[in-house]
Amino acid sequence: MTAASNNFVARLRPLRLPRVCVAVIGSDPAAMIEKAENLARDNTFLEFRLDYLPKPALALPKIRQFTQYHSHVMAVATCRRVAAGGKFRGSAASQLDILAKAVAAGCQLVDLELQTASHCKPEQLRRLRTQAALILSYHDFRATRKLDETLEKMVAISADFYKIVGTATTLSDNVTMMKFLEKNSGLHSLIGICMGEQGVISRVLGVRAGSVFTFAAVSDDEKTASGQMTTQELRSTYRIEQVDAATRVYGVAGDPIAHSLSPAIMNAAMRRETVNGVYLPLHAKTLKDLLACVRDIPIHGLSITMPYKSAILSHLDNTDSHTAKIGACNTVVRAQDGNLYGFNTDSAGVVRPLELRITIEGAKILVLGAGGAARAAVYGLKERGAEVYILNRTPGPAQKIARSARARTLKRADLKKHTFDVIINATPVGMGNPRESPLNENEIKARYVFDMIYDPPETRFMKMARAAGAEVIPGAEMFVHQAARQFEIWTGKPAPWDEMLRVVTKALEERAAKNTVENSKKK
Ligand code: NAP
Repeated sequence: MTAASNNFVARLRPLRLPRVCVAVIGSDPAAMIEKAENLARDNTFLEFRLDYLPKPALALPKIRQFTQYHSHVMAVATCRRVAAGGKFRGSAASQLDILAKAVAAGCQLVDLELQTASHCKPEQLRRLRTQAALILSYHDFRATRKLDETLEKMVAISADFYKIVGTATTLSDNVTMMKFLEKNSGLHSLIGICMGEQGVISRVLGVRAGSVFTFAAVSDDEKTASGQMTTQELRSTYRIEQVDAATRVYGVAGDPIAHSLSPAIMNAAMRRETVNGVYLPLHAKTLKDLLACVRDIPIHGLSITMPYKSAILSHLDNTDSHTAKIGACNTVVRAQDGNLYGFNTDSAGVVRPLELRITIEGAKILVLGAGGAARAAVYGLKERGAEVYILNRTPGPAQKIARSARARTLKRADLKKHTFDVIINATPVGMGNPRESPLNENEIKARYVFDMIYDPPETRFMKMARAAGAEVIPGAEMFVHQAARQFEIWTGKPAPWDEMLRVVTKALEERAAKNTVENSKKK
C-alpha cells in the first residue's frame, strides 16, 4: 500500500464499511442520481453502475454534486466492460479515464475487473489509488471454481479489496465460497458472493464467513446480478446487519423455491421473538446436494417442501411415530451431535386453526384428497378424536389411508346424503386457477370449509362455500400454523402466529395485486 493511499484506506477500514452496498442503475444520469438521492437517507453505501448508462461520462458532474451534498455516503464507481460481464463498450483506456474522473467527482472506491487491471501499468493503478480505494474484481458467470488460484492471480496486483464472484449451480457451491472466505479473509479484505438462484444464501452468509460486504439491488426490477436480493430483503427480512458467528441458520428446501413465503414469515417470527437466527431459501436440485450443505454450513433446522417430503425420510437419523405414519416429513432438526430428526407439522397446521373454532373430538370432518397433506390432516384429526371421512378422485389411496388411520371413505355420489362440521380441501384443485373447485355448490353442506390452498388467497371453493352459508378457513392459516409449530420445535419458544399471519396475508395480497397488474399488461 502506498503512503498516498494510506490516509484514504484508513477511512475505509473494512470494519467501518456498511455490510450492504446498493447497486444503483438508471436509464440516464438524472434517473440514476434521483434514485441515489432517494436511497441516501437509509443507505450510506452506494455503487454507481456507470456502465449501465449509454454515456457514462455525462453522469460525472451530477455525481460530483451528489457526493458534495451527501458526504456521509460511500460511493463506488463501476464501469465494467462487456468482456468482463458489464455493459461498457469502450476501451480499457476510456474505462480507466471514466473511473479516474469518478474519483475526482468524489467516489471513494472504484471497481476494476482483473481482466482490465492485468493489462494496466502499475503506475496507472497507483494513480487511481491515491484518491480512492481499489476493488479488484473477478466474475465467473458459469461456476464457483478455482477460487484459490484466482485469488493468487489477483493479489499479484495491489488493491484494497479483492472481490471474487462465482455462479452457484448447486447449494454446495455456497459452501465452497464460504470455506474460501473463512480461510482467506484474515489475509486480505475480501468480498465473496455466488450469483444465481442457488447462490442467494451466499449473499447473507458470505458476510458471516468473512466477506467485508455484499451487494443489493434497489428493487426486483433493478438487479445487476442474478440472484441479487433487494436492500429491503437483506435488511428487513434477513436482518443482515445482525448476522454474526452465533446466528443459527435455518432454511426452506425444495425445487422450485423462489416463490416460497416461508422466509418472510419465519424471519418475521425470529425478529419478533428476538431469536438470533436467519431463515433462507435453499433451492435444492437434488437431495444429496441439500444434505451435504446441511452438514457443512451447518444448518440447525429445515422446512422441507415439494418434492422432498417423502424422499428425505430415509436420510434422517430418526422420526417420531406420527411422522412415520404419515410417511412425509416437512421439518428437520439438526441436533448438536449432528443427527437429523424429522417431524411433520402439517397436522398441526390443520388441527390448530380448527381448535380455535370448534371442539374437534366427535366432529364429523370430510377430507378431500389422499396425498401427503390429506394424510397429515387425517392422522392429526383422528388423534384428536374426530370422525373422519375421505373422498379422493382415485379410490385406492383413500382406502389405504382409511384402513391405517381407522377413518372412512366416501363416494362422491353419496356426498349429498351427508352434512359435515368441516370439509377440508387437500387437493390442488383451484390452485392458481380461480375457475376450478373440488366440489359443486350443492355438495357443500358444512359449518366450516377449510381450503388448504393459499394462492390465490380466495379460491372458487371458498367463494362457493360462503355462498352456501359456511364459514371459511383460508389456506394461509394452515401455512402459518405448520410454520409456527416448526418455529416452536426449533427454538422452544411459542410462535407469534398472529404476526406470522399478518405477514403472509400482506405478502399474498401484494402478490395478487402484482399478478393483476401483470395480467392487465398482457391483455
Ligand atoms: P399430493 O400429494 O400431490 O396429493 C394431491 C391429491 O389431490 C391426490 O389425492 C390427488 O388425487 C388429488 N388431486 C390432484 N388433482 C386432482 C384433480 N384434478 N381432481 C381431483 N383430485 C385431484 O399433494 P399434497 O402435498 O397432498 O398437497 C395437496 C394440496 O394441499 C396442494 O394444493 C398444496 O399446495 C396444499 N398444501 C397446503 C399447505 C398449507 O400450508 N396451506 C400445506 C401442504 C399442502 P389422485 O390420488 O387421484 O391423484
